[in-house]
Amino acid sequence: MSLVRPLRLLLLGAPGSGKGTQTSRLLKQFPLIQSLSSGDILRSQIAAGTDVGKLASSYIKNGQLVPDATMVSLISNQLEQNSWLNKETSWLLDGFPRTVEQAAALNGVLESADANLNLVVELDVDQKVILERIEARWVHLPSGRVYNLDYNPPKVPYKDDLTGDPLTKREDDTAEVFQRRLDKYNQEIVPLKEFYDRRGILSKVSGNTSDIIYPKLSQLLLDEFGH
Ligand code: ATP
Ligand code: MG
Repeated sequence: MSLVRPLRLLLLGAPGSGKGTQTSRLLKQFPLIQSLSSGDILRSQIAAGTDVGKLASSYIKNGQLVPDATMVSLISNQLEQNSWLNKETSWLLDGFPRTVEQAAALNGVLESADANLNLVVELDVDQKVILERIEARWVHLPSGRVYNLDYNPPKVPYKDDLTGDPLTKREDDTAEVFQRRLDKYNQEIVPLKEFYDRRGILSKVSGNTSDIIYPKLSQLLLDEFGH
């Protein structure tokens, strides 16, 4: 089964809720979808030492959000470069928009291209479970691939499955910074969900592991965009 009309999806979910993992699985099942993760883009800007990276780094380290204006211009540029303003392209966003201000700005850009979001899915995971498993999260920074030593371990310990590069810990995955990210998320998510609910495109999938969530997410896409 494949998608019969273009999908323009936003994945919402607390930090550590598995947005990156669900994205990897979706790209495997639906190879025509393109994806963009704001966190991955920021981390690659930091690694490259750009001005945006330097600015972002100070916020990320402390578990705070990067200013809206910076995020909106960074992501808008990416949308254009990736031809995401073309109506036929199927894509998914992870991590942006994260505030109502960002959502309104994105809405303006996409609407004028007649290629607005057509689905927003909230990954609903118990936050106690998230806190327990974040300690076991290791990442491959260049690709954004995410592993969990307990649930989703790499084939070779501490090595990326595809490249064999060493895995690392994100510097904002410490208990203290992580709690701050979670608090910030809980504050922003209510008005953000309202924004999309009013537009009639908000759905939710619940479960405490990525293996439980993935089949529900995949089925939701097939029901609404497949044949
Ligand atoms: P996870 O990767 O576990 O889903 P997360 O959603 O908190 O967790 P990222 O999306 O990787 O993590 O973002 C990491 C950090 O980058 C955030 O804490 C924030 O500082 C910054 N960031 C990412 N996206 C945005 C955004 N849209 N607006 C503002 N800051 C952002
Ligand atoms: Mg992420």
